Amino acid sequence: MTETIKIAVQKSGRLSEKSLQLLKDCGIKFSNGTRKLTSKAKNFPLEILFLRDDDIPQYVASGVAHLGILGLNEVEEKDQKVDVVKQLGFAGCRLSLAVQKDTAYTGLEWFNGKRVATSYPNIVEKFFADKNINATTEEIGGSVEIAPGIGLAEGICDIVSTGSTLIMNGLKEVETVMNSEAVLIATPNLEAAQSDLLQKILFRLEAVQNAQKSKYILLNAPNEKIEEISALLPGMKSPTVLPLAVEGWSSLHSVISEEDFWNVIDQLKEAGAEGILVSDIQKLIA
Ligand code: ATP
Ligand code: MG
Repeated sequence: MTETIKIAVQKSGRLSEKSLQLLKDCGIKFSNGTRKLTSKAKNFPLEILFLRDDDIPQYVASGVAHLGILGLNEVEEKDQKVDVVKQLGFAGCRLSLAVQKDTAYTGLEWFNGKRVATSYPNIVEKFFADKNINATTEEIGGSVEIAPGIGLAEGICDIVSTGSTLIMNGLKEVETVMNSEAVLIATPNLEAAQSDLLQKILFRLEAVQNAQKSKYILLNAPNEKIEEISALLPGMKSPTVLPLAVEGWSSLHSVISEEDFWNVIDQLKEAGAEGILVSDIQKLIA
């Protein structure tokens, strides 16, 4: 039997779709019947295990799954022996402390002697211990926002992305405990076969991530402006310059980050660039 690598992804929730999409973007094909608990990739020695995100750190720490995709918040909370091998750039959020909106909040010391309702007791207890704050936690599984209103706790610590859920529940955010995003974790000290497969996956992930950050840019320029315009395009090496059928004009091709593009667009036009065309890149190997 050929060696395979097993990756645990969230069965159903906020991370599921993007986790599977990331594997697909890496050229890994599989059928994802929603009720199946495992799925074998068709063109890569990889098997997907569909699990609750809470269980992923333990599966990966024990080596039952070699890899896992989940939020950094969950990795920290479970505190298992796993390596965080890559930040994946999606499911960005933060774990924050919040209190009732009419509270006269004076700073972290306010939490001394207070109770904080959270689904992340380990993270919160460590945070308060580091800051020498003497608060206690009340662990609850969900709907944490209602805790202050019903007298279970004075504050909460929960995941925030826009903050609208807090506001809707009469709360205000007062401190960030940690920032989180989806990460790829791995069993420490993988066997050689799985370690090689992980390197292959990381190589592909990098190509996908580079591509997502970059755009392919094509533009036409009068020949005497090529130097000036090239200097504005921080491409991979230097832009490709091809003569146009029209005398005295060339076409410049390069790769540019989306952010840089917006920063230089006005200068490009001022320098005489015309017919500027920007398109997505699927994979980019630097
Ligand atoms: P499971 O049933 O697998 O235990 P869950 O209810 O614990 O799922 P989800 O709500 O699906 O988890 O969230 C999974 C992860 O997505 C969180 O741990 C966090 O990292 C991230 N996340 C949660 N809420 C948000 C949000 N509002 N914006 C961005 N990311 C979020
Ligand atoms: Mg969970």
